[in-house]
Amino acid sequence: MHCPFCNADDTKVIDSRLVGEGFQVRRRRQCVECNERFTTFEVAELIMPNVIKSNKIREPFNEDKLRNGIKRALEKRPVGLDAIEDAITRIKSKIRATGEREIPAKLIGNYVIEELKDLDKVAYIRFASVYFSFHDIEQFSNEIAKLQQK
Ligand SMILES: [Zn+2]
Repeated sequence: MHCPFCNADDTKVIDSRLVGEGFQVRRRRQCVECNERFTTFEVAELIMPNVIKSNKIREPFNEDKLRNGIKRALEKRPVGLDAIEDAITRIKSKIRATGEREIPAKLIGNYVIEELKDLDKVAYIRFASVYFSFHDIEQFSNEIAKLQQK
């Protein structure tokens, strides 16, 4: 692989490990010319269904969008990147497991909520309050109460 810093032809792999519950390979590479280091991720390319948005518009599944949504909810929360990648891997497996060629965006939102519930309660509330667009403080406190019961 070429060096993204100096365009040298050759970079060497200095570390390689499985992440995302074993469905990704993370490699640390180093340029043999300028010695800069960078990371690459290798994942199997699998076809994901299209997403049906609430306005009925279809768009291709976008993993970055999913990742950004989860990261936004987890901003300044004590959850590591590996845990986030694991959650994304599980969400993608669930999406694939539907066997559908098109799935509603709402379903993905539900999968995200399930993951956030386990990962971080604050992030869960953040995401859920936007996602369900809680109409009033009562609905919001009902959700909190449900969480506290568990
Ligand atoms: Zn270089």
